[in-house]
Amino acid sequence: MKIKCEVCKTEYALPNDTTCPVRCAVCGNVWTPPRANRRSGIMVFIASLCALLAATIFAVAVIVTSRRDDPNKRPLVATITDVSTINEDENTPKIVVKGTVTNRSDDIYGLPDLIIVLYDAAGAPVVRQKFMPSATLLDAGQSVEFSHTLSGIEGGVKRVSVELMEAEQGGTK
Ligand SMILES: [Zn+2]
Repeated sequence: MKIKCEVCKTEYALPNDTTCPVRCAVCGNVWTPPRANRRSGIMVFIASLCALLAATIFAVAVIVTSRRDDPNKRPLVATITDVSTINEDENTPKIVVKGTVTNRSDDIYGLPDLIIVLYDAAGAPVVRQKFMPSATLLDAGQSVEFSHTLSGIEGGVKRVSVELMEAEQGGTK
């Protein structure tokens, strides 16, 4: 291979596998032939590529994590608008829970099953009842109302909440 002195530009012919520093016979400059430089250049390139890849994965992980943790980023939100008790039979009143599910995202979403949870005075969940909402798909920005009647409920229910079936999506708590 041909190399050029970096200072005086004198050309030399060297064996292709020369990797040790060479001294210019004209000006005395000592430098490492370009082949070795190019190899280290490739190593720097690979290292920076790995760093970039790691940064990208890290960024994706952060986005996914924050989307899951931030309640404002949840696409579907269930809220209770009304809870009423029907006392047809004094011992086992019926509880009617009404509310809405809203799709706050810009995408269409399939509606999961909803879970009504009843809590006693101590804050312990006493009943968890799953039901299917009337709609199966929610368009972007659309809301759907739900109404669910729970019967055979013992007295002492102090709080009602609704949850979406997916673990990461909660309703009012
Ligand atoms: Zn030279």
